[in-house]
Amino acid sequence: MIAFARGLAALALTLGFLLPAPAWSQASGQGEVEEKNIPIAVTQVAPGLFFMYHHEESNAAWMVTDEGVLVIDTRQHPRRAEELLAMIRRTTDKPIRWVVNTHAHGDHYFGNSVFKREGAVFIAHRDTAGMMKSHFGLEMKRRQGYFRQRQFDPKEVSVVLPDITFDSTLTLTLGGRTVELVYMGAGQNPGDTFLRFPKERVLFAGGPFSRNSWPNPSFTPSITTWVDILRKMAAMDVDIYLGGHGDIGRREHVLQQAKMLEDFDRGMRAAVAKGLSREEIVRTVRFTEYQDVRNWYRMNLFVNSYYHLLTTGRPENAYP
Ligand SMILES: [Zn+2]
Repeated sequence: MIAFARGLAALALTLGFLLPAPAWSQASGQGEVEEKNIPIAVTQVAPGLFFMYHHEESNAAWMVTDEGVLVIDTRQHPRRAEELLAMIRRTTDKPIRWVVNTHAHGDHYFGNSVFKREGAVFIAHRDTAGMMKSHFGLEMKRRQGYFRQRQFDPKEVSVVLPDITFDSTLTLTLGGRTVELVYMGAGQNPGDTFLRFPKERVLFAGGPFSRNSWPNPSFTPSITTWVDILRKMAAMDVDIYLGGHGDIGRREHVLQQAKMLEDFDRGMRAAVAKGLSREEIVRTVRFTEYQDVRNWYRMNLFVNSYYHLLTTGRPENAYP
């Protein structure tokens, strides 16, 4: 494992690159983003497989083959997708053949139109496709502050739906490389898609996993199932876990997230069982032992959402 980690670091040093953080992140005056200003990092995690980590926003990845490129998630706005395309073009001039959208949150698919223009074929789980249609208005509403802060025009965002959907598994081959799309049920979201690269021993999990980052629980039908999925992920025969947010992960980070969600679930159930009101719970249940975890500043929203699920049996942002 140590030898492997050293190998990975060497790969990152020789083949990865760092991009300066965009100028706007110096001046986040409106409070919509309270994250550290960490430069965007692109790392080649396996030969031809690149991971883009953007701490303040969302991650993406791409696989370069002789026959073209597979892209995983397209970021939060077409302008961000243009940046992603420029990063891909630093690694290959091959055509973009496939795009997989791992889940239907706008910060992971609002850049789709840029890759549509490039001629890509889009793939997603059936429920992700459904949520892109039913939740588009909600996703746009949730991101107005972000668009304002970045001076991105919301009108540039359009829905690009998948050309191909799948229900349980789908294996893609491109240029002699193989990637397996796997659905293990609704974790963070109905439709959460895993991409497993068996030869490279890498797993990309856009929704359920985000290293050292609080995930939004307003879409999950069950945190118990979500934790179960994380434990199944941790048991998989892979070495590298890539999430929709946060840096490159290892097995221990997947297990840390499972533990954090279990603690969140237990703490919330205890507060509801005590008969505290929604307002009292939002004010007093803070999970401060996890305050250094990315996105903790949004805890009042997370507590509010999960209170909704625990007391009504339905996710706040339910699908269907
Ligand atoms: Zn996200």
